[in-house]
Amino acid sequence: MRCSSYFLPTLKENPSEAKVPSHRLMLRSGMIRMVTAGVYNWLPLGLRVIRKVENIVREEMDKAGAQEVFMPMVQPAELWQETGRWDKYDTGLLLKFKDRHDHAACLGPTHEEIVTDLFRGNVKSYREVPVMLYQIQTKFRDETRPRFGIMRGREFMMKDCYSFDINPENALKSYNIMKDAYHKIFTRLGLDYRVVLSDSGDIGGDLSEEFQVLAENGEDDLLFDPNGEYAVNVEKHNPEKCNIPEDELQKAKGIEVGNIFYLGETYSKPMKAQIRLQDGSDVNAFMGCYGIGVSRTVAAAIEQNNDEKGIVWSKEMAPFNVGLINLRIKDDECNKVAEEMYELMQQKGIEVLYDDRDENAGTKFANMDLIGLPWQAVIGPKSIKNGEIEWKNRKTDEHINLPIGTFPEGI
Ligand code: ATP
Ligand code: MG
Repeated sequence: MRCSSYFLPTLKENPSEAKVPSHRLMLRSGMIRMVTAGVYNWLPLGLRVIRKVENIVREEMDKAGAQEVFMPMVQPAELWQETGRWDKYDTGLLLKFKDRHDHAACLGPTHEEIVTDLFRGNVKSYREVPVMLYQIQTKFRDETRPRFGIMRGREFMMKDCYSFDINPENALKSYNIMKDAYHKIFTRLGLDYRVVLSDSGDIGGDLSEEFQVLAENGEDDLLFDPNGEYAVNVEKHNPEKCNIPEDELQKAKGIEVGNIFYLGETYSKPMKAQIRLQDGSDVNAFMGCYGIGVSRTVAAAIEQNNDEKGIVWSKEMAPFNVGLINLRIKDDECNKVAEEMYELMQQKGIEVLYDDRDENAGTKFANMDLIGLPWQAVIGPKSIKNGEIEWKNRKTDEHINLPIGTFPEGI
């Protein structure tokens, strides 16, 4: 991609409305723009990062045996009335409206009702389970306090997965398969995270764990036993169940990027989602549900990986691998080498953002540092005279000169 034609509106100044680094840097690097409170446009650069996260999530979900579906954002009131959640959410969270036929509906904040309805209408026998269905989709929650940019939005992207089994033992197996997949996802994303017990809250059920990215600006307070026995969201802290003296527990702030729940019959019972067993009897499906905040994960990664110059992307999440900087677009030699390198990287499948604009060196360097791609390849008259290009590692700030046409290791 060439910067000269890329829709990449970066900002030199810190936007005053942004209180945390991720929000500030996402605005400044041209990843997102606000439309209205808690509702954002994702610009091309930001969307590339979202896609990277989605791809990893998808790969690990598929490997775990979950199957991708796509459920509607508009959900009829009737299904929510069956579980009693329509009235429970009378204020906030559910954005309710009526269509031209006066049918009440809401924008989906989560999909337990929809997926349970899908299951009960189409799965009848024990032979057809376990089933795990997932989607990656836009959710809407009319949050009381949208803040920190896309970290707590009203409209946001979530991966949600649901499992169906014939008994609690099997349902816990599905739960653990998902937990395992979550470990793989957040490890691949290169995030420093912890798993903590959490309160099941509005979703219901009796076992729930959160995947929390550790970050100073996290909204959640976590407590740990340094030896790893006990880890909770403070909401769930129970001094009676904790064998460690209060003053020995470690405290940390976290950003909840994932949440897994064992639901049991919470939804299948009121919605009569049943499975016929071998002996002809019917049982309620034992369910689990598993969310990942795809868009929030992008913000969490930035909270954990930034410096005074900007974002520092990991290889897995970076929107491009390399920022190619042509220092002298008016110099024929520089231009020729830059164009050749741009071509070569595309041929090799190295994703490259090429700054071919007529700007001064300082602006170009500052811009690339802000965007935070793992590598910068700098083409200037001095080094190309020696047949070389200067490479910079954004994270370590190491500089090396390499012959034109070659690449640093591990790119
Ligand atoms: P929170 O406690 O932060 O309000 P939640 O526990 O209500 O979140 P879940 O129902 O567990 O959220 O949703 C699954 C995942 O979706 C969360 O772990 C989080 O990563 C993400 N998520 C939830 N609400 C938001 C939001 N308002 N903006 C962005 N991501 C969100
Ligand atoms: Mg949660």
